[in-house]
Amino acid sequence: MTERKIPVMIPMLGEEEAQAAAEAVRSGWVAQGPRVAEFERRFASLAGAEHGVAVSSCTTALHLALVLLEVGPGDEVIVPSLSFIATANAVRYVGATPVFADVELATGNLTAETIDAVRTPRTRAVIAVHQGGVPFDTEALRSATTSWGVALVEDAACAAGSTAYGRPVGAGATVAAWSFHPRKVITTGEGGMLTVDDRDWAVRLRRLREHGMNVSAADRHASAQPVLEAYLETAYNYRMTDIQAAVGLVQLDRLAGLVAQRRELAARYQELLAGIDGLVPVRDPAYGQTNFQSFWVLLDSFPVGRDEVLSELAAAGVSARRGIMAAHLEPAYADVTPPPLPATERLTRDSLILPLHHALTEDDQDHVVSVLRKLASS
Ligand SMILES: *Cc1c(COP(=O)(O)O)cnc(C)c1O
Repeated sequence: MTERKIPVMIPMLGEEEAQAAAEAVRSGWVAQGPRVAEFERRFASLAGAEHGVAVSSCTTALHLALVLLEVGPGDEVIVPSLSFIATANAVRYVGATPVFADVELATGNLTAETIDAVRTPRTRAVIAVHQGGVPFDTEALRSATTSWGVALVEDAACAAGSTAYGRPVGAGATVAAWSFHPRKVITTGEGGMLTVDDRDWAVRLRRLREHGMNVSAADRHASAQPVLEAYLETAYNYRMTDIQAAVGLVQLDRLAGLVAQRRELAARYQELLAGIDGLVPVRDPAYGQTNFQSFWVLLDSFPVGRDEVLSELAAAGVSARRGIMAAHLEPAYADVTPPPLPATERLTRDSLILPLHHALTEDDQDHVVSVLRKLASS
């Protein structure tokens, strides 16, 4: 018997990406340059936004979003504890205080109610996450935060290709942050993006990612005349490289196809799992569609505990993962006393993420489901 190995995720990288990266290297322009500019234009258009500002990661994108909004010491920023830890960390980078809010069980997302429950006069902003690609209710959260006079930063790290109210999740966002880490649906190795509609904000973000310079290094080098740059504020080096953007441009061509394929595989998982008691697979919310960046399953009166399910899957060659982490349970946040977070704790304790990627076959899926079916009747 050949040993089966089913990874939880594999990035879809082909010869086209390798060629594009090689061309960037051969061009001699490897730092932020024309390919980054093109990647920004094309990504912004796919995300439903006017401007894209590429950066080194979604973590640095979130940091810059808070700098842009002038959030700082004394301010509170509401975040879901149920998220990759970078969401909460970004708040601490600017010296503000992260305040954890609970999520709803079905989507894993913040709601206007869970935010309102922890809101204080010091709340300056909310970072809402499209959890594992599942869109939060953009209309509800945007209108609630607007009515409270609180800024809404959208952590769309996992959500390229997800939609809400018939539009890409980035459409209509004040500021959204995206990731191109290989664990997401499209990748540039490491990489991130900010999208905004406001032109002045795009200009400021471009400056913040590049040492506060009033003219980009790329524009300076492209000019026939000497250009003397000025440094207008203390800022950062959060640039993306043209090698990464070259890969990203190819990945953009794949995005729609990858999402369509993930949605088909997810629908097949849902069908197969429907016959097993005690498992609740993630689904589209009524107002939108997920890209299924993460296909998670919540154990609900399942006879076997989550960690044992993970071990049994691993023993059968299936690499699954625990569900989304909860920052408030990590040592880095031991000094924070959160309000009760029952749905967050339930999801992080009782859910797991099943393999889903472009190379997953129906046979692989049947194998994954057969392990779960056996455990269900144990
Ligand atoms: C992956 C992820 C991040 C961090 O993205 P990087 O590009 O790796 O910095 C932030 N927020 C969420 C919700 C994520 O899933």
